[in-house]
Amino acid sequence: MPKFQSLQPDILLPRDITTWEWLFEHPTYSPLHRFPQSQLGGFTDAITKERLSWQQVKETATHLSTALVKNYGLKVGETVSLFSANTIWYPVAMHATLRVGGKVSGASPAYNVEEMSYALQKADARFLMTHQDSMDVAVKSAEKAGVKKEHIFLLEGELEGFKSIKTLIEEGRRLGEQVAYFRIPEGKTNFDVCGFLSFSSGTTGLPKAVMIAHQNVIAQCLQVMQITPSDHKRVLAVLPSFHITGLVHVLHLPLLINAEVYFLPAFTMEAMLNTVVEYKIPELLLVPPIVIRMIRDPVVSKYDLSFLKRFSSGAAPMSDEVLQLLQKKFPNTGFKQGYGMTESCSCITAHPPWIYDYKYAHTVGTVVASTTVKILKEDGTEAEIGEPGEICAKGPQVVMGYLNNEAATKETFDDQGYLHTGDQGSIDENGVITILDRIKELIKVRGIGVAPAELEDLLLGHPAIEDVAVLGIPDDYSGEVPKAYVQVKPGNQESQDLGREILKYVKENKVRYKAVKEVEFIEAIPKSASGKILRRVLRDQMRKGRVGV
Ligand code: AMP
Repeated sequence: MPKFQSLQPDILLPRDITTWEWLFEHPTYSPLHRFPQSQLGGFTDAITKERLSWQQVKETATHLSTALVKNYGLKVGETVSLFSANTIWYPVAMHATLRVGGKVSGASPAYNVEEMSYALQKADARFLMTHQDSMDVAVKSAEKAGVKKEHIFLLEGELEGFKSIKTLIEEGRRLGEQVAYFRIPEGKTNFDVCGFLSFSSGTTGLPKAVMIAHQNVIAQCLQVMQITPSDHKRVLAVLPSFHITGLVHVLHLPLLINAEVYFLPAFTMEAMLNTVVEYKIPELLLVPPIVIRMIRDPVVSKYDLSFLKRFSSGAAPMSDEVLQLLQKKFPNTGFKQGYGMTESCSCITAHPPWIYDYKYAHTVGTVVASTTVKILKEDGTEAEIGEPGEICAKGPQVVMGYLNNEAATKETFDDQGYLHTGDQGSIDENGVITILDRIKELIKVRGIGVAPAELEDLLLGHPAIEDVAVLGIPDDYSGEVPKAYVQVKPGNQESQDLGREILKYVKENKVRYKAVKEVEFIEAIPKSASGKILRRVLRDQMRKGRVGV
């Protein structure tokens, strides 16, 4: 019965401290105790140059948390939702919440009112912090979800009628005595205390709030640190802070390794490349669509990027073709990637430095420290080396489960503690894992997860649609995009006009990246006896090119 253990030495995991204590108070781990003030890294806004060193993050987060508790009544275990594009104040709000035992829930700044109110409700949010550009959606969503208007604050910008977190920080400072930081209660460990609620649809169904414990984030940072090269001292922050990759690799890990983080509030290729060149950033942490732009966008040739050491990717697969083009265009770079999911608090596997080579780029590297992987074949037995099956992982980064959703938790995390990823892969004799396919429903658009069930729910509300199934289809730029297979209601004509109307309907009701790009009419959606969509049947037919009627 083979189980594949990590080849790395085990991490030494502190189990009695929160992420706050670990990063800002602990004599062994905190950069504040390990480096002189003058050498402390920080979060820098690459455009405005506003900067917060770790010391300033600690001070401002301490005042903010004091104001939140004393003036606005934030209690241990309550959720603060962060609904904003990247800003250096995002981590301040995040660490302030964690400091006093709250939970942080990130949401895509592109969400509309429907999506945002769903996110607020699922995360039981009591507070909402947002950017002035998102305030309109924030206010409407808060009203729908029962979050008080007095509990909505501005992370960035100014707007009449709303307090900014800078005002709250000042309020906290003026209160004098600061509230004590939250500690793990006696008899519990940092695995029992949830600090983060991130959204994922898991292997099936609608997006769910994933309960991420303080331990998960600490463990993942220690696991990744073990294989982080010493030149990783300047970190580019283009990935969204609400996604697990940004949360771990941008908002936490840089404190542990005392690196400087450069935030880009809004992404453009020029802004990114200017920042990369200005700060000579050696490793670019990107998602596949931005890697594709590095190959194709003519603006790249205007920059001297000869100092670049490597590309780092994650969150979605990279095609062999893209990898070949990347190597050709940047022959002196290496390549690494991480593989995992929100439910594994980012990486299950990653490339260690000794395989930062395009030869291994099609793989997702080796199992990170203190983690065991089993690969389950269709018949439920464990695969041998080289045999494909579903990747299942167990380790201190595997999360607590889904909030208020025991059924989905039971389905995804087995009773031996293994997370069932819904990804198909295999492992070779050197412990290197390759992802072969995705067996779960999830669609990954530009690295962000889209739940087919969410689009199907919406489309079933369209007056001309009798039944529908949504699948991901390959797309050059986005990796995948949603496609809807539609059975029309009797009396409706399958027509180009109806197809266009359906595309428009989704566009009007969902955030841009969830837009359905193709509609195909079919006679009937293949279903099991119990009424479940037989996605595999549909997908196999789609791959063979014979779904349409
Ligand atoms: P999320 O929870 O949004 O991070 O999505 C997790 C899913 O993204 C995984 O279960 C995979 O299907 C996919 N994924 C993440 N990283 C990779 C990777 N390096 N290669 C292939 N697929 C990936």
